[in-house]
Amino acid sequence: QFITLEGTEGAGKSTNLLFMQEWLAKKGVDVLVTREPGGTEIGEAIREVLLNKDFTAMHEQTELLLMFAARAQHLQEKILPALAEGKWVISDRFTDATYAYQGGARGMDFSEIATIETWVQRGFQPDTTFIFDLPIEIGMARVAARGGQTDRFEQEKQAFFEKVRQSYLQRAAAAPERYKVLDASQNLQQVQADISARLEQMLAN
Ligand code: C5P
Repeated sequence: QFITLEGTEGAGKSTNLLFMQEWLAKKGVDVLVTREPGGTEIGEAIREVLLNKDFTAMHEQTELLLMFAARAQHLQEKILPALAEGKWVISDRFTDATYAYQGGARGMDFSEIATIETWVQRGFQPDTTFIFDLPIEIGMARVAARGGQTDRFEQEKQAFFEKVRQSYLQRAAAAPERYKVLDASQNLQQVQADISARLEQMLAN
């Protein structure tokens, strides 16, 4: 099974990724956890370029191609081999993020993104995608509270993230079998109860 986690900043992906990993491990599932952009040595080097806030001149086409360059390496080197060994793979972000950020928010054409997706992925898709959904102001407040450095994307304004959020919700609505939209504004226990219910369902299948 290939599971992906998506959402806007401060939605709780990282915390809940650990929760999922532990939950599945307790059930005896062999889990590989990874992230995008990144996940491999080459992919992490591409991530450094993508997130570098000094690179204000980065063209959106460059950004899109680097996302898919990192993803191609990630798929071939890590995700596909792990799935072939029978592992479950959980990735913190995958192609839905490209549609949401480079598509919905930056305004790049969805059908052009789909052309590159087809070329890189050959129809490969996650089995389940969890979307951590919450109002942008709440997420931004959480990010501000935890402090730390901001990356090139975190410098964007609220309107940008509103578009990201709406894009995720639209994609989920168009293919409800693959997506589980979580209300990430709830308390952690409630979010995790929703996650466990979906994982139970996946294990039963
Ligand atoms: O998940 P994380 O917050 O670590 O992602 C790193 C950054 O890359 C985020 O700021 C996210 O908005 C951005 N990103 C993006 N397009 C993608 C994947 C991630 O803009 N396709």
